[in-house]
Amino acid sequence: MSKKHTFQTEINQLLDLMIHSLYSNKEIFLRELISNASDALDKLNYLSLSDEKLKGLKFDPCIDLKFDETKKTLTIEDNGIGMSEEELIANLGTIAKSGTKSFLSSLSGDKKKDSALIGQFGVGFYSAFMVADKVIVQSKKAGEAKAFAWMSDGKGEYEISTCTKDSQGTQITLYLKDEDKNFASRWEIENIVKKYSEHIPFPIYLNYTESKFEGEGENKKETKEDKREQINTAKAIWKMSKNELKDEDYKEFYKSFAHDNTEPMRWVHTKVEGTLEYSTLFFIPQVAPFDMYRVDYKSGVKLYVKRVFITDDDKELLPQYLRFVKGVIDSEDLPLNVSREILQQNKILANIKSASAKKILSEIENIAKDKEAYDKFYKQFGKVLKEGLYGDFENKDKILDLLRFTSSKNEESVSLKEYKAKMPKDQKSIYYMIGENLDILKASPILEKYIQKGYEVLLMADEVDSFVIPSVGEYDKIALKDATSSETLKELGEEEIAEEVKKSFEGIVKSFKEALGDEIKDITLSSSLASPVALVGEEQNAMMANLMRQMGQEMPPQKKTMELNIHHPILEKLKNIKDKDVLTDTAHLLFSCAKLLESGSIENAKDFANRLNNTILKTL
Ligand code: ADP
Ligand code: MG
Repeated sequence: MSKKHTFQTEINQLLDLMIHSLYSNKEIFLRELISNASDALDKLNYLSLSDEKLKGLKFDPCIDLKFDETKKTLTIEDNGIGMSEEELIANLGTIAKSGTKSFLSSLSGDKKKDSALIGQFGVGFYSAFMVADKVIVQSKKAGEAKAFAWMSDGKGEYEISTCTKDSQGTQITLYLKDEDKNFASRWEIENIVKKYSEHIPFPIYLNYTESKFEGEGENKKETKEDKREQINTAKAIWKMSKNELKDEDYKEFYKSFAHDNTEPMRWVHTKVEGTLEYSTLFFIPQVAPFDMYRVDYKSGVKLYVKRVFITDDDKELLPQYLRFVKGVIDSEDLPLNVSREILQQNKILANIKSASAKKILSEIENIAKDKEAYDKFYKQFGKVLKEGLYGDFENKDKILDLLRFTSSKNEESVSLKEYKAKMPKDQKSIYYMIGENLDILKASPILEKYIQKGYEVLLMADEVDSFVIPSVGEYDKIALKDATSSETLKELGEEEIAEEVKKSFEGIVKSFKEALGDEIKDITLSSSLASPVALVGEEQNAMMANLMRQMGQEMPPQKKTMELNIHHPILEKLKNIKDKDVLTDTAHLLFSCAKLLESGSIENAKDFANRLNNTILKTL
């Protein structure tokens, strides 16, 4: 009896891609299937130690590869956890993880790049259809009596029936396409396994038949012998000592571990012995994982205890701002039956986590010694690193040192250390401005005041900046201050404006206040602007607003003080204008322009256009 099922729509899309577009690097299908087999062995290993029902189950975890040149088949078999009928349907018929939809949307059309993504998106199994036009999966779940076969040609449907299978585990048979029959050969398989799966921590056996000829002429006789040969070293690389390993070993391990065809940017391998005993091996990829900014991102770190895989689903193994790091933590001290739920309160793990974060940050410091390399790193991971300022107080100074900013002196990437070293003697604080984008920030009238004094201002336009920067406080004993706040502006030590100048502006100030009413907090005079007016806020308010927004509260935009530039010809001329309409229009136009420079947009565009038209008409 067999039952027909249809694939979920997304799977069909995916299969279509596998079959028709992603064929530039076909051989990775074997890496994907071996990686699934290895996961299945990991799972059973863990359960045979922790699960009541499976405790004491004796099994020799291994992966067997078989092929048949004439039938053009390739079989991958493991004696791992196996799948029940329901699991076959759920795992090989639907997309469990929401990641796949974003996988489909992030495809670039560049076949090489796209096929590199397959594994990362947790869609590894379907890569079998890159080389096979029929796939049969026979599986028996550990601890259960029945076995099931899943069968499909990858064209919209699959079939499930019962089958016979002696031991637990999964056997996948690929019926290779004519053009891919080369994968049913001893040399090809050995090469691919060496390339991608050398450090899978379980033995991979290649089964083949060896023909021998004996005798001469008419007496010549062929004898066949079945062979089973281990083709990988099957060592947990993170447990090996560094001098046993070459760069190549790390790179190849990374590629298979992270399903990434690109080499890692860096790696850190640590073995700790003493009160705590553990090994860690971390990799920094060259390119940010696609799901780094998704809420449901996949953790890149696997936890092992004494080489037994425990979980790859714990996002707390490293601080979240290091979620781009891939790798392994293997502890000798945790109990093997540690429940995944209590991991988070575990002191040993907290200890490893904190030491690991420090290690990784030091490696990033190493990258930072080479400007070109660091630019590449920073482009990928700079933003996410900033998040650490918010949660990792222990490493705040280290993280601050690793940040790079654009500055008003047209520097593309300034560190706080460099900024500090360049500060003029009379400068009191480190100044920053946060805004929509760099162009807007560079056009800010307030920036002019700092430039005039010879002070550099850090310009920040990443979304995360407004959350993390205001709470930084200080760097190396120097305060970080919002350059647009009135308190900070006081540090620029503006000269007092003479009484008679103030008097001469009284009329303008009064009619501007009447015109703008509630839209502004106040109007003051300034002698250090280049633009006619500027809008100035209050640090206290900005901080509060930020805090509220972080807690998910809507905040009305804060009212600002408008500064008038006493030296500007527009204001000079306005002194002699008596026409109330002109004064009102001008007040609104100047206010709108200042808003435009501050945020790139104005709220009441129609009103703005009307006033501008009026004003133009009068000048013509
Ligand atoms: P991923 O490995 O990222 O989860 P795959 O498409 O490679 O995605 O596999 C889908 C799922 O199918 C796996 O998560 C696993 O539950 C199941 N699976 C695949 N191969 C095996 C196997 N050999 N043994 C047990 N389960 C398997
Ligand atoms: Mg997989």
